[in-house]
Amino acid sequence: MTLILSGNDYKYELEGVLKLFIPATQFTHMYSDKIECDDDYVFARVKETKNTVLLYIICRYNGDYRRQGEILDKNGSTQKYDKELYLSRVLYKVLAEITGIVPKWGVLTGIRPVKRVNTWLNEGCNKDEVYSRLQNEYLCSKEKCDIAFATAMTQKQVLDALDRKSFSLYISIPFCPTRCSYCSFISQTLDSGRKLIPEYIDKMCREIRQTALITKRLGLKLDTVYFGGGTPTSFEAEQLGTIMKTIEHSFDMSSVREYTVEAGRPDTITEDKLRTVKENGCTRISINPQSLNPSVLEAIGRSHTVEQFYDSYELARKIGFSCINTDIIAGLPNDTIESFKNTVDKLVDLSPENYTVHTLSIKRAAVLNRGDKAVLKNPTDEMVEYATNALFKNDYLPYYLYRQKNMVGNLENIGWSKTGHESLYNIYIMEEVQTILAMGAGASTKLVDHPKRLERVFNYKFPLEYNKHFDLMIERKKQIIDFYEQNV
Ligand code: SF4
Repeated sequence: MTLILSGNDYKYELEGVLKLFIPATQFTHMYSDKIECDDDYVFARVKETKNTVLLYIICRYNGDYRRQGEILDKNGSTQKYDKELYLSRVLYKVLAEITGIVPKWGVLTGIRPVKRVNTWLNEGCNKDEVYSRLQNEYLCSKEKCDIAFATAMTQKQVLDALDRKSFSLYISIPFCPTRCSYCSFISQTLDSGRKLIPEYIDKMCREIRQTALITKRLGLKLDTVYFGGGTPTSFEAEQLGTIMKTIEHSFDMSSVREYTVEAGRPDTITEDKLRTVKENGCTRISINPQSLNPSVLEAIGRSHTVEQFYDSYELARKIGFSCINTDIIAGLPNDTIESFKNTVDKLVDLSPENYTVHTLSIKRAAVLNRGDKAVLKNPTDEMVEYATNALFKNDYLPYYLYRQKNMVGNLENIGWSKTGHESLYNIYIMEEVQTILAMGAGASTKLVDHPKRLERVFNYKFPLEYNKHFDLMIERKKQIIDFYEQNV
């Protein structure tokens, strides 16, 4: 498929719309006022005269041919952003007619749809106006309007109470026991990375201490701590304890309201580790089955059993964790609508405080993407709809929502919570409203002066580079001081 752009440079936006209808396809693009193409194409034209803007799409796809356009009066709304949106809508309508597919998020292709809803609410829009904009400007379905609006409402209290001088700490542990087939995170298996770990922990503790000095100088207040990865519980109990004690001794912990450790893979969880993280301040953990269907776990290379998940969950409750998150993924290979429903229902019975429903995203790096594209045919839409209804029915509310590129069915990931258990960190990171100071390989610090400014400071991606070039990287952290002294 070739995208031919004429009088515009909306390649990114239009490709985003094309991918909704024609997933897992490479597009080429060219700039031309003529259609000179033997294969399928989309010709996207913007032509301005003194008083009007003409926007139209000509599309040839799968033996079908359509042409559709709009003329805008220049006295009306003809801002640059609007032209992209108009053209995206025309392309959406043409492709919906040809393919019969009606993507539920309309032309809202960005990662954070709720951020847009929050912006409109802050500008004074009411519920009807938000729905109207989502449905008429972005062609969103009523179902997606409901979920986006409900998420914004759950977030409201947290966002309204945000202290501008607060920050969160992210601790990156990019190691896992083995690699899951759908994974595209930067994570090293223990077999290949074990020898790097002692130095990695030393360096990370140095990074924590140095960052703490900066936050003291700037008068910043630690709000939440989040250990993510990878799988943090790939580390031994003693190693986790070393990092957590360094945090405790470096920062003033009296203002901390939430402390998460992802214990994602049940095959890494031991009583010793759970007790260690709890004794060192952790208040929230994730234990992620992804599916309760053994053949799905085998197909995705999770290397743990359904029983291991249940045992770990029970152990965590016994030790006294009062906030547990469980993750599942819709659209995994070998899953069926029945076995997915069974996973949803069994987890609802366990009643975790947080429940995250992901949709499979096939990124290029994932081993899964090297095989056939059979997973694209899974009834993912139906699975997500089932989970949404089941969770609403069982008193969970959506509290954060995000989308990734290449998500099967153009769906989303939703974090659900029982009232009062919403993870603050997850809301902050998704809505980009609070500074996140990130430690470790693959981590990126986000400096936020919401809504005016956001800057990023990147750490080295891989543990080997992180260990080797640590001093160079730590130099970059001075950017934190510059940011606050100039902006906040
Ligand atoms: S546990 Fe998570 S980070 Fe580790 S390999 Fe699996 S998907 Fe990737």
